[in-house]
Amino acid sequence: MDDSGSGCRHTVEDDPIDQFENAQDAALTLRPDVPVYCFRPEVLRQDARNFVSSFPGKTAYAVKTNGEPIVLQTLADIGIDTFDVASPAEFAAVRAVSNDAELLYMHPVKAQSDIRLALEAYRIRTLALDHEDEIAKILRIVRALDLDPATITLFVRLQTKGQAAYELSKKFGAAPGHAVELLKRIDKIGFRAGLCFHVGSQVENPETYERALASADWVRSRAGVDLAGLDVGGGFPASYGYDPRGKKPVVPSIEEIMERLRHDLDDWEFSGLPLIAEPGRVIVARSLSVIVRVLLRKGRRLYINDGIWASLSDSWTGKITLPARFIPDPARKRRTGNAENIIPFKVCGATCDSVDILTRPFWLPETVETGDWIEIGHIGAYSLSLRTRFNGFYPDTFVEVTTPFESGEAPEGFAAIETMAD
Ligand SMILES: *Cc1c(COP(=O)(O)O)cnc(C)c1O
Repeated sequence: MDDSGSGCRHTVEDDPIDQFENAQDAALTLRPDVPVYCFRPEVLRQDARNFVSSFPGKTAYAVKTNGEPIVLQTLADIGIDTFDVASPAEFAAVRAVSNDAELLYMHPVKAQSDIRLALEAYRIRTLALDHEDEIAKILRIVRALDLDPATITLFVRLQTKGQAAYELSKKFGAAPGHAVELLKRIDKIGFRAGLCFHVGSQVENPETYERALASADWVRSRAGVDLAGLDVGGGFPASYGYDPRGKKPVVPSIEEIMERLRHDLDDWEFSGLPLIAEPGRVIVARSLSVIVRVLLRKGRRLYINDGIWASLSDSWTGKITLPARFIPDPARKRRTGNAENIIPFKVCGATCDSVDILTRPFWLPETVETGDWIEIGHIGAYSLSLRTRFNGFYPDTFVEVTTPFESGEAPEGFAAIETMAD
């Protein structure tokens, strides 16, 4: 048994990770030329516990947000025992950290062979769909394996409309009338029937969930079948950066969104049902930052060793301004400009691709130079999971850090972070 403290057992493999107080210590000790991920297990534990304690149902972590073994292990260690998975690789990633975690296979469109693997090898008993042909695919495997449909819950994914950084209803989800038909068919075959939706990602307007619940209520009353559960999906927002010259934006806090959601669940009389949420971003965003190096400064442009094909695609597609902190190289003696003057820099990524330029600036002291480091905060969600090997750049170095990204002093400590309301 490892009794040397909470910070020591962090990997599924046994390679120890270097530990530092903060990213600046890591950068100045390692002087890295490659991007270095700073993992903050305590922040992850806090944000996960915070979600679990405020959601009135089961929390199923969405593995696609960040499926790194250290992340999954940390979550399993604090008792997260349900995971939203979408592929055989995700089934295996969860099984590698927990033998008995429950897997919810919530991808609405699945390969026949993957359905078989899920039901047979992984004993998954909860699946999502948004079309009758998917019911037929699942039923074929259920019959082939001689399973009792009553042991399986099929969630109908309902189309929703709302505002989110990512709007996902265009791709998946059955329209309400169609969802009614699907629920009836599922019930008639003898499966257990559930309703689910996923309103998108980085949803900052709590009314989005209410609209989805209103639609779910409409579907439930028309279908007239007993529901085995309601799954409200993910989409809960994390805090990011902003233009420090403007007004500090306020994102609704998770407490605020949850209070509203609990209220809406009561109002629409869903609180009696088994409830599930599939948070990703809100749980993992704060738990990682990345230290990047400025390979070249050219006027107001910074060329860095990471980019949209590596850790920063979420900032690009989600139009997110990432909070950034300056880590000046003490070896550089001559600097021009005023370190108190925070200005926007255009950020160019490491690859030769001309689209590899961030759509949102980094706000940094004007004294930044070639060879300095920048810590980019709150990149735990959709960053590592989306990185590619394009052009041969694949960041994969990790350290563990104890201090949360947002604690630090100006100007080196500059990081423009939105306030979460409370
Ligand atoms: C991506 C996804 C999630 C997680 O979304 P977040 O915005 O990261 O919370 C949850 N459920 C489904 C079905 C998803 O596709």
